[in-house]
Amino acid sequence: MSNVRESFPEIREAVRRLCASFPGEYWQKLDRDRAYPVAFVRALTNAGFLSALIPEEYGGSGLGLQAATAVLEEVHRSGCNGGACHAQMYTMGTVLKHGSDAQKREYLPQVASGELRLQAFGVTEPAAGTDTTRIRTFAKRIGDRYVVNGQKIWISRAEHSDLMVLLCRTTPREDCVRPSDGMSVLLVDMREAVGRGLTIRPIRTMLNHATTELFFDDLEVPSANLIGEEGNGFRYILSGMNAERILIASECIGDGGFFIDRATAYAGERNVFGRAIGENQGIQFPIARAYVQLSAAAGMVDQAARMFDEEENCGTEANMAKLLASEASWYAADMCVQTHGGFGFAEEYDVERKFRETRLYQVAPISTNLILSHVATHALGLPKSF
Ligand SMILES: Cc1cc2nc3c(=O)[nH]c(=O)nc-3n(C[C@H](O)[C@H](O)[C@H](O)COP(=O)(O)OP(=O)(O)OC[C@H]3O[C@@H](n4cnc5c(N)ncnc54)[C@H](O)[C@@H]3O)c2cc1C
Repeated sequence: MSNVRESFPEIREAVRRLCASFPGEYWQKLDRDRAYPVAFVRALTNAGFLSALIPEEYGGSGLGLQAATAVLEEVHRSGCNGGACHAQMYTMGTVLKHGSDAQKREYLPQVASGELRLQAFGVTEPAAGTDTTRIRTFAKRIGDRYVVNGQKIWISRAEHSDLMVLLCRTTPREDCVRPSDGMSVLLVDMREAVGRGLTIRPIRTMLNHATTELFFDDLEVPSANLIGEEGNGFRYILSGMNAERILIASECIGDGGFFIDRATAYAGERNVFGRAIGENQGIQFPIARAYVQLSAAAGMVDQAARMFDEEENCGTEANMAKLLASEASWYAADMCVQTHGGFGFAEEYDVERKFRETRLYQVAPISTNLILSHVATHALGLPKSF
């Protein structure tokens, strides 16, 4: 496939070179063992790619979101997976945007260098689901500490993070004027917390994603670790979600490119009935359709990332980019399995692994229905249904 996108050619080339050292066999073994890609994450960190969004004054490369999307797109197009560490890029945005000067000086340079892994983001709870205002994990202020009790689910990379951005209630929902009031963000030091009020339980899923359940039982967090003002946490979390959605969308564009590359190559070399299967339009057209859909989605991702970098309000565009890209990558994944016939199911071809991996993105970090609801109410002014 000709390149879907040509921005940041040096970054793309450098990422491709790095990813070439982590071929399919590397990921297949990790997938079998449900193991974390330590060497891959270390290589990306050492190359400085994960600090793209941290300003230079805090030791990052300050390149911006458009460059960051190029990094993650190439990671995924190469057959690798950024899910193990993409949050190291954007979770720090909560500290950067809403933290105090002291917090920024303390944490951001170490996050930029990779000494500190800030890649756990604790929002979702079993009983609340997408309705975040219903979270029940509660942080009670006692003197110079918060005492946290509650439970989170689907918190990825918690076992591989030194710090976690945690959203909890500091005022019960029923005592708030608006349901979105009364929530606060704490920066939890996982190195101190685990075994002293925080228990992490891994969840085995259809993909190798290091996701977990968290149990808080009188976990003490210094009040100095409160980000911004108490009670405003929901707004702080929302403001970081655009970056997350655009970056995940870029991973989908990379996945889609991977599937189209693989399908095109296979269609050209596989001979059945005395000719390459790619000579049949029944094989060509789904590949072409995947390319059309992916190119359109890539344009939306570009637009959202540019608006983010220019500090324009890009909530709707970020959501639309994520929706289009996750659907385009899923269509491409299905097409790629079909093009490969039986070999689409064989571990050694990597297609089935990437198929499982890319399916996630229509559900997390935000499901398609919730995006449609956002577009309906925010862009079209339709009435809210919840
Ligand atoms: C592998 C994995 C990793 C994750 N990592 C993290 C993480 O690191 N941190 C974190 O905080 N969370 C994480 N999540 C959670 C993820 O963000 C949620 O799973 C996702 O937002 C969907 O929420 P839910 O699972 O509670 O679904 P629910 O809210 O229970 O919804 C179930 C289904 O119903 C639909 N639905 C719900 N309400 C409506 C409505 N009003 N109208 C129409 N449809 C509706 C949804 O679209 C969805 O399809 C992760 C999830 C997974 C699977």
